[in-house]
Amino acid sequence: MDKRTREKFKKLLLAMREELTGGIVRHSEDTLSSSQRDSSGDLSGYSMHMADMGSDTFQRDLELGLVTREHEMLYKIDEALRMIEEGTYGKCEICGQAIPESRLQAVPFAKLCVPCQEKDEVRK
Ligand SMILES: [Zn+2]
Repeated sequence: MDKRTREKFKKLLLAMREELTGGIVRHSEDTLSSSQRDSSGDLSGYSMHMADMGSDTFQRDLELGLVTREHEMLYKIDEALRMIEEGTYGKCEICGQAIPESRLQAVPFAKLCVPCQEKDEVRK
């Protein structure tokens, strides 16, 4: 992979990263503020509102799940950026073949080529 292509993917990854970190902050704040609201809330009529509280918890779990997925993705992006710096970016970790640019365009943090990815998924 030449330098220009590497730079292109670096920009792409950095843009994704920025988008994600913005999202994580937003989600975390939402989650935080809703738990603060719950804990400082009036406890009279507690049992009456059990159903509502249940759905709040469910909603919060959903949001937390989202944050975790975003963190995972962030981790992958950081790893890809590190590989760009090291010059190992765009190479399949298993067979060492160059990952097609079209695949990197779709998944800029891909670490495996398609055949290896498929084998890897079967194994798991
Ligand atoms: Zn491979």
